[in-house]
Amino acid sequence: MDEILESDGWRLSGKVSSELFRRLPSVDELLRDEAVQAAVARHGHGATVDAARSVINGLRARVTSGELNEDAIAAAVHAAPLEIEQRLRDAMAYSLRSVINATGVILHTNLGRAPLSEEALEHVREVSRGYSNLEIDLASGARGERDVIVDRLFAKLFASVGYTIATIVVNNNAAAVLLTLNALAEGGEVIVSRGELVEIGGSFRIPDVMAKSGAVLREVGTTNRTRISDYEQAINEKTKLLLRVHRSNFEITGFTEQPSLEELSALARKRKVPLMEDLGSGDIFDLRTVGVHGEPTIAASLRVGVDIVTFSGDKLLGGPQAGLIAGNPELVKKVRKNPLFRALRVDKMFYAALEATLLAYLREDYDSIPALRMMRLTEEQIGERAEHLTRKLHISTPRLNVEIVKTQSVIGGGSAPGATLPSRAVAVSSPGVSADELARQLRVRETPIIARVEDGKVLLDLRTVDPEQDEVVLRAVEQLATSN
Ligand SMILES: *Cc1c(COP(=O)(O)O)cnc(C)c1O
Repeated sequence: MDEILESDGWRLSGKVSSELFRRLPSVDELLRDEAVQAAVARHGHGATVDAARSVINGLRARVTSGELNEDAIAAAVHAAPLEIEQRLRDAMAYSLRSVINATGVILHTNLGRAPLSEEALEHVREVSRGYSNLEIDLASGARGERDVIVDRLFAKLFASVGYTIATIVVNNNAAAVLLTLNALAEGGEVIVSRGELVEIGGSFRIPDVMAKSGAVLREVGTTNRTRISDYEQAINEKTKLLLRVHRSNFEITGFTEQPSLEELSALARKRKVPLMEDLGSGDIFDLRTVGVHGEPTIAASLRVGVDIVTFSGDKLLGGPQAGLIAGNPELVKKVRKNPLFRALRVDKMFYAALEATLLAYLREDYDSIPALRMMRLTEEQIGERAEHLTRKLHISTPRLNVEIVKTQSVIGGGSAPGATLPSRAVAVSSPGVSADELARQLRVRETPIIARVEDGKVLLDLRTVDPEQDEVVLRAVEQLATSN
């Protein structure tokens, strides 16, 4: 290989002598260096050899192109151990990092949706660092089922439904919908309104999931209007389910019609076909208390007679990513027995985080769940923090404008589309630098800050910022002033 490179070198530059290549160390030589030995101890032999090889290859390429003379090679070889350490640091660092969400979007799917509560994190740690009773009944010593961990809590939370519901957990709501359709409707027809054939971000499309579940989609009505008679006429001996899907990320307004859940439930009873609802968000908390109206709650759906509902664990529930399937115990049992359940089940960490989150609901300790705490912050509370922050700013340049503006936070994550929460943001702009560039500079910081750009300004909505990190935001804004 050396020979090929050397002859290439001759050809390319005409004056690179093989003598120069001989000045480059071998990987083995580099590995004998004390600093590189230390890197081996920190990062492992294989990774260090890879880094050393790539540093040498880089030097070789530069020699080939005639870029380096004798002195420059000597300097580069001298700097090689440092370069190796730098490459190893980059290669061996975590890809997943903590960021500050200053977008004001509470359930931001790209930023990991719901942050977990302290109790949830503590419980995950406690249960996961050793063994747990995940599937053992401690009293009898017999094998148990992991389902009971959250099943009992949902039964308590939804005691108002009128019967004891059953709940099982899978990987996410997409999995919950797929599994439920497969278990209850494979080979048969599922009736859905054309106004509810939704696509949720990240390629979850009702018609596609239906096809994969082995059930046949029977569309009824039109995009804007579907009547109960449309469902009624479509029911036949092949019908296995009526399905209502929450329009999580859009609204239909104007000349519209959609049967109520009561009407659908009455029809389902009359024709002895189960009614399923994909709620998406799965709201337990009463959003009307924060001024958001019209978002369906799990309890309301079950109370009016929906037989089985599916929802996410990391949307309005404020827990870990998970898909919940809840409702009529007979139907849930049938879903639980489906072999797909085993493929979609979740591990002890999910159960621990979910259990801790649900217990907070039972205690009505809503502020311990970060997503709910953020929703419950008032505009005034956020405004006060913004003012406090701007008062403490030390900016000695007129090139950065900082002001407080009124804005709207959104719940996000496919909940309450169109519903916003009044908020105030620290707005940063500069006559010389674009808002996109300022936002980029905030993103590439050691602790990245993700902000929103609106009307040529970078908006930092403190609703979604942990108050403990206000100081970090403050420093970042000051840094923008010095570096622009
Ligand atoms: C969000 C959503 C899903 C997908 O849920 P994930 O937990 O992201 O898999 C499915 N259906 C509806 C109606 C949703 O809002």
